[in-house]
Amino acid sequence: MSNYKDDHDFVEGYQKIDRYNDSKISSIAAHYTEVLSQMGEDPNREGLLKTPERVAKALQYLTHGYDLDAAEILKSAMFKEDYSQMVIVKDIEVYSMCEHHMLPFFGKAHIAYIPNGHIVGLSKIPRIVDAFARRLQVQERLTNEIRDCIQDTLMPAGVAVVIECKHLCMAMRGIQKQNSVTTTSAFTGEFAKDKTRAEFLRLITANLH
Ligand SMILES: [Zn+2]
Repeated sequence: MSNYKDDHDFVEGYQKIDRYNDSKISSIAAHYTEVLSQMGEDPNREGLLKTPERVAKALQYLTHGYDLDAAEILKSAMFKEDYSQMVIVKDIEVYSMCEHHMLPFFGKAHIAYIPNGHIVGLSKIPRIVDAFARRLQVQERLTNEIRDCIQDTLMPAGVAVVIECKHLCMAMRGIQKQNSVTTTSAFTGEFAKDKTRAEFLRLITANLH
């Protein structure tokens, strides 16, 4: 959260989110005041006085991915390089919000690609995960969007994306399966081959630390 407010202007060639949009914040906050009343709460009691504004700001932060261009993030750090072995970034933290209930889902993403002339700065991989996760999402689409962005921008020999998340809409309501984890995956190119995909899956499950 601290990063977000500090380096919001212009970083490495692409525009990051602007400061909070004040008119949007006050309009969303007004709706939350109404929601509190409808819940039977008193929006004027001390503990709730600033809650609508806080919720509106949290919501704007949690969906700031709409203002990010994931392809531009990748393009800002692409380098020509001969390396043609699998590059894996694993255990990337994912925080997103399901579009059906607007409740969080969170977990980890494991991403690999096989370079085909270009590599990308490693820190950009978690950045594009964030760009797609910080929106209203379903885990399946999030997985595919990350895969397609890397494939279409970097044009590697293959991309693999595995995401494992817990969904609060499952844990806190409805069927209340508190410890279930949903796993989604998407592959392109070389990862369509059993051997390559098996190596990737072995490497992300191996404990190398
Ligand atoms: Zn949901």
